[in-house]
Amino acid sequence: MKEIAIIGGGIVGATAAYLLSKDEKNSVTLYDSADGQATKAAAGIISPWLSKRRNKQWYALAKDGATYIAKLAKETHMDSKTYLQSGTIVTRKETAALNELEDLANKRKLTAPEMGTIQRVTAQEIQKRLPLVTADLQGIFISGGARIDGNRFVKHLLRLSEQNGVQIIRQKAELLNNQTIQVGKDTRQFDTIIVCAGAGIKKLLAPLGYEVHVHPQKGQLIELQVPHYQDDVLAPVLMPESEKDFMPIGAGRLIIGATHENDAGFDLKFTQEALEDLFESAKRIDNRLSKDDLIATRVGTRAFTDDFSPFFGQLPNDPRILVASGLGSSGLTTGPLIANLMVSLLSTTNDFSNYQKRISTYFS
Ligand SMILES: Cc1cc2nc3c(=O)[nH]c(=O)nc-3n(C[C@H](O)[C@H](O)[C@H](O)COP(=O)(O)OP(=O)(O)OC[C@H]3O[C@@H](n4cnc5c(N)ncnc54)[C@H](O)[C@@H]3O)c2cc1C
Repeated sequence: MKEIAIIGGGIVGATAAYLLSKDEKNSVTLYDSADGQATKAAAGIISPWLSKRRNKQWYALAKDGATYIAKLAKETHMDSKTYLQSGTIVTRKETAALNELEDLANKRKLTAPEMGTIQRVTAQEIQKRLPLVTADLQGIFISGGARIDGNRFVKHLLRLSEQNGVQIIRQKAELLNNQTIQVGKDTRQFDTIIVCAGAGIKKLLAPLGYEVHVHPQKGQLIELQVPHYQDDVLAPVLMPESEKDFMPIGAGRLIIGATHENDAGFDLKFTQEALEDLFESAKRIDNRLSKDDLIATRVGTRAFTDDFSPFFGQLPNDPRILVASGLGSSGLTTGPLIANLMVSLLSTTNDFSNYQKRISTYFS
């Protein structure tokens, strides 16, 4: 039996637990404190193809991540409240910019057939697909875009993992030398430890002498229950230029997100400033919305690196400790694939240089 510990039960940890639990030779224990978990606070948009980020390694990871997440959803029979290929619409105000976006979409589709149908959409067509929208928008519809509910996604994978024998300990863990984990006064040694604790990695690895170059970023979003919104379960996600993402998720519920705050540390309080920012943006898309429609707020901590790229793999001086962090604002898209690649490192060696810089870049 191989004794494996996972610290962190967000999308990376839950996927790793599920994948490892499929092999009877693994005995897996997952520790999760759930504080500030980004996964359960996230909006849930899976649509990396029209990103203008120039980082080719990130794009390769996000593109393949979107494909992998669809495969995982199918393999584990996720329901449509957990994973749904709803399509996405990305808008541009200027026609020249929209032409450029359409060219990019068609170019990217050559290597990403999973983007599905690419269609230029007028204001009328957008309103037909998204009756909530009152703004005059034009954009590109991509049928392969998807949305996930991070909280349900993780619960689903952890339930399957538990059925396969994974032990879940919902407490904060500390990492000691010699592959040892401490929870309260209890200590336990493992053959392999996987640390996927988001921004919590910095504190966890400090006792082992590592300085991890990762920072916390606060993200807030709001959820509305909209009286004039019917049951458009299949409505696409709208990513309007210069505005917050606008996600009708059915049953009258609408998610607006998210903020990106680099100077708030690990603070988890929802702020009035975020409410104004998110609500005003949403109102520019649907001018009938009211603050009385607000039913929930969510706050989570993303982890980001100096070059905004995720990293994963074996620790530079401790190959029996695997780490993943820095997934930033696209970690629901890249997280499951990162977990899959990390798990593969238990039986093969690879630095995955097609997807990331050398892992030592992120440590000193
Ligand atoms: C508001 C918001 C909106 C977002 N929207 C999107 C989106 O639309 N699309 C997208 O792709 N991505 C989105 N993201 C980003 C995405 O949510 C994250 O990048 C991703 O969830 C990170 O997953 P993770 O498993 O690395 O970390 P997390 O989900 O943060 O999980 C880490 C877990 O480790 C636990 N932990 C930490 N330290 C310890 C310890 N010592 N002991 C035990 N447990 C510990 C934490 O409590 C947490 O549960 C969004 C994020 C936020 C906050």
